[in-house]
Amino acid sequence: MTNKTFLSIGEAMIEMAVVGPDTYRRGFAGDTFNTAWYLAKLLPADWSVKYFSGLGVDAASSEMREFAKSSGIDMAPAREVAEKTVGLYMIHLDGGERSFSYWRSDSAARQMAGDVDYMTERFMEADVLFFSGISLAVVLPEHRAAFLEAIGKARAAGKTTIFDPNQRLRLWKDQTEMSDAISDAAKVSEIILPSFDEEQQFYGDTSPEATIERYFAAGVNTVIVKNGPGLVTAQTKGEAPITVQPNIVENVVDTTAAGDSFNAGFCAALLQGADLAGAIASGAELAGKVVTSHGALVNDAV
Ligand code: ADP
Repeated sequence: MTNKTFLSIGEAMIEMAVVGPDTYRRGFAGDTFNTAWYLAKLLPADWSVKYFSGLGVDAASSEMREFAKSSGIDMAPAREVAEKTVGLYMIHLDGGERSFSYWRSDSAARQMAGDVDYMTERFMEADVLFFSGISLAVVLPEHRAAFLEAIGKARAAGKTTIFDPNQRLRLWKDQTEMSDAISDAAKVSEIILPSFDEEQQFYGDTSPEATIERYFAAGVNTVIVKNGPGLVTAQTKGEAPITVQPNIVENVVDTTAAGDSFNAGFCAALLQGADLAGAIASGAELAGKVVTSHGALVNDAV
């Protein structure tokens, strides 16, 4: 049995969630990290799930490595950046409303693409590479071209490159910087998993079909357009478009990580031989469970 590697790429952060007056509970989360966390539970034993990022050499970074390891995620590929540490965010609760404060602008993860040879070697060791628009925003602007070039090399070498645009305008200088980077990322991606609300907001797409056409033109081979509880619309170049209706979930309590868990369920099924419709149904099934619990990493969902 040959071992295969799924390499997720991005930033994991310390999460501090308020649990009482003056008391926070520490966790670890981040979009591509959440996807890796679910994949580690979903993929069979012949797959390794690894995480590429930037990490410090301090206690906080070691604790993150340990948490990842205990969840089945190997952070060995992460680039060590001795003088930096991991990013952090706090979840504040005001009545039922959650709000977030972030300390990530100088995190070790921002330096993940600072050693091009090291990064390219790690990417070439993987079979599947997964990254997002948040990964791309975190990579320092001066490293972004080299980062995408390394992903492109992996794709050219026959590896499957998978991208979720996850467009968060506040992480970018402006919308032009964001949309330029997203279309450059699409050029090196085999599969893309956008959410329709963002495509509508930032590109004026009038339908999921319009989103699909735009990403086909950019060079993507398979486009899966998520749409909250609505229809998922997807197409592979040269084949007919399909739609899949996610099951209706009555007791939605927190949609955090809906997209991240969808991506994990989708990838796990696809990599085990499911067809496009079957993989989408698996993604929607997992996401449908995740939205019925609080938090990003829901043990009971898998
Ligand atoms: P993102 O979190 O990336 O914005 P979406 O909101 O489009 O992604 O949701 C991703 C997937 O999660 C959807 O395709 C769907 O399968 C599932 N999902 C999201 N919200 C709901 C909901 N309210 N009810 C059922 N499924 C949902």
